[in-house]
Amino acid sequence: MIPYSKQSVNSDDLESLKEALFSSHLTQGQRVSEFESLVAARAGAPYALALNSATSALYCAYAALGIGCDDEVITTPISFVATTNMLLALGAKPIFCDIKQNGNIDESKIEALITPRTKAIVSVDYAGQSVAVDSIAHIAKKHGLLWISDSSHAFGARVGDSPVGSFADATIFSFHAIKPITTAEGGAVVFKDAKAHQKAQLLHSHGVQKRALWNSEVEFLGFNFRLNELGAALGISQYKRLDSFIAKREVIVQLYDSLFANSPYCTTLKRESRLYSTHHLYPIFLSRALWCSKESLFMQLHEKGIGVQVHYKPINSYALYGADSSATPVAYDFYLAELSLPCHQEMTEDQAVEIAKTFNALCAERGADARAT
Ligand SMILES: *Cc1c(COP(=O)(O)O)cnc(C)c1O
Repeated sequence: MIPYSKQSVNSDDLESLKEALFSSHLTQGQRVSEFESLVAARAGAPYALALNSATSALYCAYAALGIGCDDEVITTPISFVATTNMLLALGAKPIFCDIKQNGNIDESKIEALITPRTKAIVSVDYAGQSVAVDSIAHIAKKHGLLWISDSSHAFGARVGDSPVGSFADATIFSFHAIKPITTAEGGAVVFKDAKAHQKAQLLHSHGVQKRALWNSEVEFLGFNFRLNELGAALGISQYKRLDSFIAKREVIVQLYDSLFANSPYCTTLKRESRLYSTHHLYPIFLSRALWCSKESLFMQLHEKGIGVQVHYKPINSYALYGADSSATPVAYDFYLAELSLPCHQEMTEDQAVEIAKTFNALCAERGADARAT
């Protein structure tokens, strides 16, 4: 099976892990700090905190910036559910804004959703391509809102020459196994503000502030959301190959784009050249006539060893969120049309050609009807 995404590990990673494993500290050592410095530098942000997952990072970012009970937060339904679960965990209320054809929040629809309770905008860089940073920053500033970017797909992405991480009040990255680089499980948040960083730091480690000798103080509750030294060692080693991973996925993406350019069966993701994407995903959008065949197409592709996936079932269609996507029709259609094809640094161009061929053949079997739009 060729999975839709896959980690890439090598002997350098193993060496880095070995060193960490036989070092004095398996946790709370220098490697985590070193990794945080790399993340901050790449993200163009002054403060970085590494954690055991992006989910923990989302929680700490939201809490550190003061999102709490009954705050409304305008966000996208096209994301992994952790983006909004962590809002619910703090008693905040996600307000779902519709999306654009590129899978990102539609900034032109944000202002209509703002109420006196609105506290923040939480956007997601779908597939690793940045949201419209200028518009969102402008809206946030105009209305006195926080802006938090779930950039779990987008570590290493840029807008022109400016890195993702340099725009929002807080930006979250995931280092889950199949994200742009990995620490096995892990995540990070970068902040512009030192105080928010300090608060998140306490939240992620028991709320314990060291004083003198054995003495410490606890003013509010915290957790243990720390990344360990093994994860950090892997992250440091992976970081050296981040750009080569992205470059490899770029080759696959360009190839798929050319293979699907005139496809009667699907369209591809709209991308802007000034947005340097990590290409975490390669989504295609089935023509409307194929929407009802998506389940059988998915199964047939899996039978043929092509591990397609769907990103994402809209969060507002989950039971926990009211099971109603009617307020975000573009997002719902996006979901009905979308299939993520394998796209990662471990696959070959021949495999991409084979995948496109197989997909086209399966669609062709469905006859002329599949070509109607
Ligand atoms: C992967 C992902 C997360 C969660 O990341 P973990 O590191 O697995 O907790 C959150 N948001 C988005 C958009 C993601 O893709």
